[in-house]
Amino acid sequence: MAQNDMNNTLLKVKDLKKHYPIKKGILGGEIGAIKAVDGVSFEVKRGETFSIVGESGCGKTTTGMCLNNLIEPTSGEIYFNDKQVSFRQKKDFQEVRKNMQVIFQDPYSSLNPKHSIQRIISEPLVINKMGTKSEIEDRVQSLIRLVGLDSYHLNRYPHELSGGQKQRVGIARALALNPDLIICDEPVSALDVSIQSQILNLFEELQEKFNLTYIFISHDLSVVEHISDRVAVMYLGKIVEQGTREEIFNDPKHPYTQALLSSVPVAKPKSKNNRTRIVLEGDPPSPQNPPSGCHFHERCPVKIEACKKAYPDMREVNNLHKVACHLVSENLSITTQ
Ligand code: SF4
Repeated sequence: MAQNDMNNTLLKVKDLKKHYPIKKGILGGEIGAIKAVDGVSFEVKRGETFSIVGESGCGKTTTGMCLNNLIEPTSGEIYFNDKQVSFRQKKDFQEVRKNMQVIFQDPYSSLNPKHSIQRIISEPLVINKMGTKSEIEDRVQSLIRLVGLDSYHLNRYPHELSGGQKQRVGIARALALNPDLIICDEPVSALDVSIQSQILNLFEELQEKFNLTYIFISHDLSVVEHISDRVAVMYLGKIVEQGTREEIFNDPKHPYTQALLSSVPVAKPKSKNNRTRIVLEGDPPSPQNPPSGCHFHERCPVKIEACKKAYPDMREVNNLHKVACHLVSENLSITTQ
């Protein structure tokens, strides 16, 4: 990403929450809430890849779905191109959605099996009345070639394509309306490793060509390390650390980030960034009943007394690197290795 683009904010998310109420009986009142996303804030710059990582159930996919209004957030603010987006104003959101597309994890189920590839890619163009029939056909022809497939694939059906080819079709469909932002939800995790790198390369080529912005949601840290400019780490519905790729992968500050990264193989095992494996005890707690204080304290190998009492504020290590941990707030060294 060019340095000039660093200050060019495309998306701003403030205190986003998605709480699912828990009710007692059929007519019973609310007795609690599952806090799937619990006060998430971040900014995404135009032309960058911003990744959201964490274990299954940490809230990363729910965050992506809230951004695209696939599920309605409980509260929070979203600004796209400096304009606040209202979740409840359908018309308001339709306009944004043209500029904010989604690529889903599973290319096998995200394409309608009864529709030809031609119809699947042309659908957003037809729905949004983006030209005459022949203009739409021309656009679809150029889109299929853009993602590395041939014109003859347009007459095929999803079941006739490989997983990688189906994901290329998903990418072509997402590009149809010339979006600024694409939310990629685990876009390569259902693919073979050899195909994953081809699709990641395609994402990078398209980003360079069209100055695309990606929000990349993934549990796979090797993929995230490859593709990201900046990374946010989520634990139990909250962002616990965010920073540039280098800061997160070479100098993680939060004990949870350190533990997550310790399970990722490093390319040069003898380099100074070699990571000793940290095995966390227990499973992540339920978002219905998170522990008091820092939600990570029951599993944290370096917790202090304060960790059980209060949730740590997000503190700046520098203007791009932020961490929610009492040890960072108190300038204590964090050594879990
Ligand atoms: Fe560990 Fe305490 Fe930091 Fe939470 S606040 S990550 S429990 S040291």
